[in-house]
This record gives sequence, structure tokens and C-alpha cells, in this order.
Amino acid sequence: MSLNDAVTVTITDLTDKGDGIGQLDGRTLYVSGALPGEQVQVRLHGVKPKYAQGELLAVLTPSVERVANFCRHDECGGCQIGILDYAAQLRLKRQRVQQALAAKGLSAEVAACLGMDEPYAYRNKALYAVQATANGAELGFFRKQSHDLVRCDDCGIQPALTAELVATVRDWLQAHDIAGYDEAAHSGTLRYLMLRDGRLSGQWQLVLVTLGEALPEVDDLLARLARFPQLHSVVQNINPQRGNRILGFSNRVLHGEEGIHDTLCGLDFYLTPLAFYQINPPQTAVLYQQALAACGLGGDETVFDIYCGIGTISLCLARQARRVVGIELVPEAIDAARANAERNGLDNTEFHAGAAEAVVPALYAAGYRADVVVVDPPRKGCERVVLETMLQMAPRTLVYVSCDPDSLARDLVYLTAHGYGLESVQPVDMFPHTLHVESVACLRRLG
Ligand code: SAH
Repeated sequence: MSLNDAVTVTITDLTDKGDGIGQLDGRTLYVSGALPGEQVQVRLHGVKPKYAQGELLAVLTPSVERVANFCRHDECGGCQIGILDYAAQLRLKRQRVQQALAAKGLSAEVAACLGMDEPYAYRNKALYAVQATANGAELGFFRKQSHDLVRCDDCGIQPALTAELVATVRDWLQAHDIAGYDEAAHSGTLRYLMLRDGRLSGQWQLVLVTLGEALPEVDDLLARLARFPQLHSVVQNINPQRGNRILGFSNRVLHGEEGIHDTLCGLDFYLTPLAFYQINPPQTAVLYQQALAACGLGGDETVFDIYCGIGTISLCLARQARRVVGIELVPEAIDAARANAERNGLDNTEFHAGAAEAVVPALYAAGYRADVVVVDPPRKGCERVVLETMLQMAPRTLVYVSCDPDSLARDLVYLTAHGYGLESVQPVDMFPHTLHVESVACLRRLG
């Protein structure tokens, strides 16, 4: 087997990045764009002793689950499984959760993944990178596993207005020869364009992330944007740091307010540029309803919401519980959670800023107890001391919201070994056409 050979291979699985996996002469072959069950012809690249990359030349026997990509930007790295029929995507996600649990010896039943009726234009947030090119500043998404830009104004998972706003910003940049970001030189004016919409409020926000304070020709930009009455907030965010972090910490309001409002589960939330907010509004409501139902609240409980962000789950819980205690690392998010509680008249909440691994044990030592605990940690899952302290509080119900099946499985092993029964695992599709899967696991104290 050598470089540039054209070979035929059968695909048997997908990697967690969405590449097809096949076997050839004792090597694992990775083929982007190929699906399990397909026979494909590929040209070999990067041949190593144990594996090789194959560039897809032709699909000889297509999978029955193959569909035409719903989005015309095949080259964009954002959606990994847009060529897989949506029902098959949901089956794949359920299987991913089942496999992660089985790999750790957990035998719980995993429910069918809850999907969308219309899995398109679902995102309420878009992040376009702005780069310096030979033809001036260009905006787009990154090509798979690279920082090469792909122009993607009319992205299939963004609402239609996105394309118009992106084009308006590009025209303005190019009209004034304003420089895009040069990553290698760490120079230029504009680094990113972020768009966010309140799906139920109809309010839009546009954020220009700049390297420094300077932002020339702002008046002309605002004049060009004046034809979008949906824009309630135009903000300059300054991020002078090198690296992959998108937003800096200082904001300058250029038009309207610093944030926009949105309604979620009947509650009003105020979203400033740095606020974490789930990106798929209808599915967030589904996810939160699942979490809430798993809590089985009767109205008299003290509930902990650990990793609470801006308090979205906390406030849903507060309508059905006696008291809710939210814990979150980012102080600005805790400020927002308090303001959101007040705005919605939910005075049975309290919020604590700090790392869960420090705050939860401190609250326990101060005498706090919980009847029900909800956790929604980042991908790496919960720190061991958070799990230990939860167990010491001995809540009757634990609800684990997870964006990573592997760390979920690891933490469930610990909890089920310490007096809790795993009652249900419900995957929810928050990110159609990508391999991400969110799950709600419900545990009850035994005995
Ligand atoms: N439940 C919220 C947020 C979930 S995202 C929602 O649905 O919107 C996970 C959150 O955990 C983020 O807000 C992140 O800032 C926070 N976080 C990350 N590490 C943390 C830690 N060590 N302690 C507390 N919070 C943390």
C-alpha cells in the first residue's frame, strides 16, 4: 500500500469526528465523507504503519441512510453528519450513549434520542472568523480540522437573516479596507463576528470582536445596519489576547443595549455577549422539561443546580420547588442569574460564584442539604469531590445533564456504586447534523 494508490474499501464505523472507518491490509483507514455500510473508492494519503487517510473518490455502494447534504457547504467542518438521514442520526446518537455506558459496565436502558421535526436553521448563535486575505478581509467558518476559512454566509443551521448580516459586515469591511485578523502576526482590526438571536423575542445582537480599541468607520457600519430593525444590540468586544478564546472581557455598546432578551420555558432571560446560553431554543425546552420531570418536584424541596450558567435550569426548578441553590464558576454568569431571578420574580433562589469543587463542599460544611441535585457540567464531567459531597447530602434524586457520554458514564459508575440506582437515560438532540449528543440521566437513592 503506498501513497496516491486508489483502493476500494468497506466502511464499518464512524470516528467521533464523523470520518468513516475501514480496514485495509492491517491498517485502519479513515475516510472523510464515507458512511458505515458503504463500499468506497479512495486515494491514499498519509500512510503510516498502523493507519492511513483516504480521500473519497467515489461511493461505489451508497448506504441506504445516505442523503444529499441539506447544506451546500460540504467543505465546512461544522456539521459532520449532514449526509446521514436524520432518523439515522438519532439512532447513531442513542447508540453512542449506549456504547459509552456499556463500555463502563452499565446496563441501563437508553431511550430513543429526542429529535427535531425541522432540524434546520436551529442555531441562535453564529461565530464567523474574520481573516486577512490577499483580497481584503474575509468572513467564514473553518474547514474541518484547520483554520482555513470557508465562506458560509447561508449556513443551513443558521436562520436566514444571518446571511444578510454577514454580507453587510463584509461589504463594510471591504469598502473601507478594514483588516481582518492575521493569526500568525497577531495583527489586524476585526477577529470575529458573533450573531445571536432571541428566538422567541425576535431580538438580534451583533458583536464585533476586535483585537484592540480601534474600530474605524463605525458610523458607516451603523448606517448600513439601520435597515435591520431586529438589531437591538450592536456591541464591540475587545479581545487583545492570542489564542483560541473568542471573546475578551470588555464590551462597548455601539447601538441599542448591551444585551437582548429571550423567552425560554416561559421565563425572560437577558443575554449579554459573554453569557452562556444553549444554542438550540426548541430543543433546550425539551431538554429542560426532561430534567425537570426527572426531578419529580412536589413543591417542598431544596434543589441544588450545580454548573448553573445564567440560571436557566435554576429558574425552571424554582417555579416548582421551595428553594433553589445555583452554583457556577463564572462570576458574570452568577450576576446574570441573580438579575434573571429578580426579573422573573423568583425570590426563592440563591446563587454562588466559584468552582463547584470548592463551593459545594463549603455549602455542605455550612449546613446546606439538598433533596434533589441537578448537575450540568462541562465535557470533562464532575470533579470527584463534587460527586462525593453530593453523596454526603444524600438527595433522594440526582439528575445528571451531560454533553459527553464518556464522562457521564464514568460519573454514573461512581454514583451507582454508592447507593444510587440509574432509573433512566434520555438522549436529546441539541445539535442536529453534528455528532454531539446531550443526555439526561436520572438516579434515585436506593433504600
Ligand atoms: N446549566 C446551564 C449551563 C451549562 S454549561 C445551561 O443549561 O445553560 C456548564 C457550565 O458550567 C458553564 O456555565 C461553565 O461556566 C460552568 N463551569 C465550568 N467549570 C465549572 C466548575 N469547575 N465549577 C462550576 N461551574 C463550572
